[in-house]
Amino acid sequence: MPQPPTTIADELGIALSNLADSATGAFTPTLRLGVTGLSRAGKTIFITALVHNLLTGGRMPGFAPMADGRFIGARLAEYPDATIPRFAYEQHLEALTGKHPVWPEGTRRISQLRLVLKFQSRRWYAGLRGPSTLNLDIVDYPGEWLLDLPLLGLSFAQWSVEALDRARRPGSGKEARPFLELLTAIDPGKDANDPDAERLAAAFTDYLRRSREHGALSTLPPGRFLLPGDLEGSPALTFAPLPAPTQAVRGSSLYAMLEKRYEAYKAQVVRPFFRDHFARLDRQIVLVDTLRALNAGPAAVADLETALTSVLACFRQGETNPLLRPFTRRIDRILFAATKADHVHHTSHDRLEAILNRLVNNAGKRARFAGTQTRSIALAGIRATHEGTISEGGQTLNTIIGTPLAGESLGGTAYDGKTEIALFPGDLPERPDALFEDGNPVELNFLRFAPPQKLDRNASGDVVLPHIRLDRALDYLLGDWLA
Ligand code: GDP
Repeated sequence: MPQPPTTIADELGIALSNLADSATGAFTPTLRLGVTGLSRAGKTIFITALVHNLLTGGRMPGFAPMADGRFIGARLAEYPDATIPRFAYEQHLEALTGKHPVWPEGTRRISQLRLVLKFQSRRWYAGLRGPSTLNLDIVDYPGEWLLDLPLLGLSFAQWSVEALDRARRPGSGKEARPFLELLTAIDPGKDANDPDAERLAAAFTDYLRRSREHGALSTLPPGRFLLPGDLEGSPALTFAPLPAPTQAVRGSSLYAMLEKRYEAYKAQVVRPFFRDHFARLDRQIVLVDTLRALNAGPAAVADLETALTSVLACFRQGETNPLLRPFTRRIDRILFAATKADHVHHTSHDRLEAILNRLVNNAGKRARFAGTQTRSIALAGIRATHEGTISEGGQTLNTIIGTPLAGESLGGTAYDGKTEIALFPGDLPERPDALFEDGNPVELNFLRFAPPQKLDRNASGDVVLPHIRLDRALDYLLGDWLA
């Protein structure tokens, strides 16, 4: 895969903005934590739960600063960059903890939130200085946007060849047909005009969306076609791949018009995202809805692995200009998290972690994690089930107990969103490799559950959001900065 993510000018830009960060953070260090994952991986829930647990001093025995009694507290602070939307923490929390708790809407664009953490350091000189503070900047962004990185190294003609090859593969047939039919009806050599560009872009977007809905967990670039963020309806997204012209391209042709828009998308959308946001992260968590892929079968697992490979290729290790290295921050820890671990019994969590590890290791090899620590964990930002056992045919089965969302169904039973059930979710394979072998489907019983409807309160009257291993994730991502 081509890998020229930044130009020298970009490197300078990144170096300067990192310098500015360190200048303003001279007294209070700032840790920029990126939270990403494909759509519906669980980013919004993870961030809401993390912020709430930090603000209310939640149950987090696996987070060393809290376990040691050194964590003093956290508060929300104004985000220094007013041009970036703020993560809608209050609205999301209200959805989850209101009278009728519902899951909030997921991530559609980049957003940020700043927390100020106060703690007692355990360093020898800390006693002299009193409590320390750390700014924790959380940057939430769609994983789909990372899939755009390879575009920076591809011309319009090269990208078109790749995209059209994929659309013409037998597996894409049904989803891609309307777009391919439209392509044959429109001559790219004709005069440029907006209606044709719009029709082509709409048909191409529709194809991407449909292939996503029909099982493919990965999406194909351009990432903004499915998650446009603030660019919804903008001309920057009005292009589509076109077959290579047989004659010289006229500057006034439809082909030239779409080529120009593709280049504008790269220059004005993709490159600034990588330069201004991505390249400034210190730590990263990549959330992966592993269970959904397992439930959908080997093709979906293979597809998830492909998507992860593209995502991981973005963590540009050892590829910066050595002269700029002192100024260029680099992600030194990446945590991979299999989300929604409350969908399986805790006895399966080790296997879930092993499966995720296997998935990202394969993908990671190609991303070269030189000098970067990585770890895999199974977690639930918000735990929507509890556990129990049932006896069946003289056997004791470990179950999870929760209320399936209205409209969910399993084995011919449709659920109304009000009835609590005990479910045997099935066993994850002991050997992660089994997942990649055909004829080895994992028999999982997978249902989406409603968020917890009755929440406890702590001594201060704050709602307690139950989680699984959020504390350990936090410890890995921030613990050493609070040492
Ligand atoms: P995003 O698109 O990555 O922001 O995904 P969300 O955080 O909005 O999560 C998508 C959906 O997954 C939610 O609406 C929930 O239904 C479900 N979900 C996310 N996290 C959890 C979790 O920890 N436990 C359970 N049971 N469901 C979750």
